[in-house]
Amino acid sequence: MIPYSTQSIGEDDISALSEVLRSNYLTQGKEVEAFEEEIASYIGVKHAITFNSATSALHGAYNVANLSNDDEILTTPISFVATSNMAIECGAKPIFCDVKLDGNIDEKFIERAITKKTKAIVPVDFSGRSVEMDKILEVAKKHNLLVINDASHAFGSEYKGSKVGSHADMTIFSFHAIKPFTTGEGGCVVTNDDNYAKQLRLIRSHGMTKKQHWNSDMDSMGYNYRMTDFAAALGRSQLKKIDTFIEKRNEIARYYDERFKNHKLFTINTLPEHIKSTRHLYPIMLNPELHCPKEDIFVALQEKGIGVQVHYKPIYKNSFYEKLYGRQSLFVSEDFYRSELSIPCHQKMSLEDAEFVANTVLEVIESYGYRGCSF
Ligand SMILES: *Cc1c(COP(=O)(O)O)cnc(C)c1O
Repeated sequence: MIPYSTQSIGEDDISALSEVLRSNYLTQGKEVEAFEEEIASYIGVKHAITFNSATSALHGAYNVANLSNDDEILTTPISFVATSNMAIECGAKPIFCDVKLDGNIDEKFIERAITKKTKAIVPVDFSGRSVEMDKILEVAKKHNLLVINDASHAFGSEYKGSKVGSHADMTIFSFHAIKPFTTGEGGCVVTNDDNYAKQLRLIRSHGMTKKQHWNSDMDSMGYNYRMTDFAAALGRSQLKKIDTFIEKRNEIARYYDERFKNHKLFTINTLPEHIKSTRHLYPIMLNPELHCPKEDIFVALQEKGIGVQVHYKPIYKNSFYEKLYGRQSLFVSEDFYRSELSIPCHQKMSLEDAEFVANTVLEVIESYGYRGCSF
């Protein structure tokens, strides 16, 4: 099975990690510090604060943004549940704005969803394709809102010539195994704000500071969200290869773009000039006549060794959300969910693999082209 995404671990990564395991220091230490400096310098920001997952990084960022009871965030339903879960964990309510056909939040719906309770806009760079950040920042500035960007798919992506992560107040990245590069589990927040950075460091480690000798003080609520030193060593080794990983995925994506352009039964999202994507996912969008047989198409592709997946079921359709907020339905998000299929695109694939995937996808989809929906 060729998975839709997977990690790529080399001997260099294994030796970097084992070196730390042989040392005296396992948890947050020199490797974490060095990793954070390297992330900050790669993205072009002042601070990077690592966490043991993007979920805990989101929780940290929302806490630092002072999200609490009665606050609202404006976010997208086309994401992994953690984006909005952690806001709920802080007592806030996620308000879902509809998306565009590229899977990113539709900036024209943001402003009209703002209320007196709105505190932050939380966009997600779906598949690694940056959101239209200038427009989002403009609305945020006008209404005095924070922008917290969940860029879990987008480490290394660029928007108008600068790295995703250098625009929002705080940006979250994930280093989970299948994300652009990995530390096993892991994540970080990047920011240019000294105060946010200081608070994020506190919150990931029990809210404690050392005073002198045995005297430490816990001044604010904190958790144990620290990254281990061996995870950071793996991250540093992986970070050296991020540009090659991204180039490899882009090579595969360009091949698919060429094979799939102007197809009668599905569409693809080509990238505009001002956006460079990690191509964390390669989504194809099935035309309406293929929505009914989508399950069959999915199973047929899996049976032929193509590890397709669907990203994402709109968050509000999860039963936890329905119980809390009742049923919701956003027009494009629903359509997106019915249409989307992520096909394999990762740095361990060869162009021959991509050719096999493209041939199989075309063969399977075209074999269902006649069926349509019968009611
Ligand atoms: C993967 C992912 C997360 C969660 O990341 P973890 O590191 O697994 O906690 C959050 N948001 C998005 C958009 C993701 O894709």
